[in-house]
Amino acid sequence: MRTLITGGAGFIGSHLARALLDIGHEVFVLDNLSTGSIDNIEPLKAHPRFGYAIDTITNEPLLSEHIDRCDVVFHLAAAVGVQLIVEAPVHTIETNVAGTEVVLKHAAKKRKLVVIASTSEVYGKSTAIPFREDADLVLGATHQHRWAYACSKAIDEFLALAYWKERGLPVVILRLFNTVGPGQTGRYGMVIPNFVRQALAGEPITVFGPGTQTRSFGFVGDVARGIIALAAEPKAVGEVFNLGNDHETTIRELATLVKAQTGSNSEIVSVPYDEAYESGFEDMPRRVPDLTKVQNLIGYEARVQLPDILSLVIEHHRAQRPEYV
Ligand code: UDP
Repeated sequence: MRTLITGGAGFIGSHLARALLDIGHEVFVLDNLSTGSIDNIEPLKAHPRFGYAIDTITNEPLLSEHIDRCDVVFHLAAAVGVQLIVEAPVHTIETNVAGTEVVLKHAAKKRKLVVIASTSEVYGKSTAIPFREDADLVLGATHQHRWAYACSKAIDEFLALAYWKERGLPVVILRLFNTVGPGQTGRYGMVIPNFVRQALAGEPITVFGPGTQTRSFGFVGDVARGIIALAAEPKAVGEVFNLGNDHETTIRELATLVKAQTGSNSEIVSVPYDEAYESGFEDMPRRVPDLTKVQNLIGYEARVQLPDILSLVIEHHRAQRPEYV
């Protein structure tokens, strides 16, 4: 199969590229390196079935040419990371909405399957745990820039489902829950790379807000396998799926685990949300996926659990920064 991955130099995109190459597919990556990194695809460049272009997806002639050449588009290019979203809301909204618009428009001309990476963020402040794909989305006020991300991704989902309904374009929508593993950057605020970096550097581990908020961390390798299996499943077309791991952890427990697994002397400190993000920042108290739908359709299971994920991330950080060892 010939595949195009928009955002393929990002953390998830590059793991997906590797997984597709490993099972014999062709991969072409289109990425403007806004949050992705050339380092993520460096090890893939020599692969005979791999190609890439550093460009934006809004370069429509280029995008259209590569959509023509592929069988499946994995659309992962997006503005991600709560820190980035709060700091650059215009960029977030424009990138996420305009990017998906052009991908769907060009894919529709040739009826190419589009697999769209959405996010668990769309469930917003909902308390209907675990989150089911058909549940209501509960977003906060428009003054809170965080919700711009959820809303932009929800628009992407609406648009993709509209293309399926009205124009018969095959689409699959994936709501990725906190996806983690080696290679994820902490630059845009993601908690695990930040905690691991802080612990290894002997700096305070910064727990934002009460620390009682929970997340369910999915291993990127499990998620990549799920994405590939769903792309190959005809019954997935026109559907929305949660993807990740349903084991729930509080952020304070996570800090304690990182401290223990790194053998760090770092202090665990609390930082109010207002200081960490912006005044009035709203977080979600719990986030857990209901994975029944994806389990029933493709037999998906999350194989790698948090302690093992952390070991891999710690090992990766140590390899990159030998002074931490
Ligand atoms: N968080 C934290 N310390 C950090 C970075 C994040 O306590 O250095 C918290 C953040 O406030 C949230 C959780 O960890 O409650 C997960 O944050 P992340 O940005 O990784 O993902 P989110 O689920 O918020 O999109």
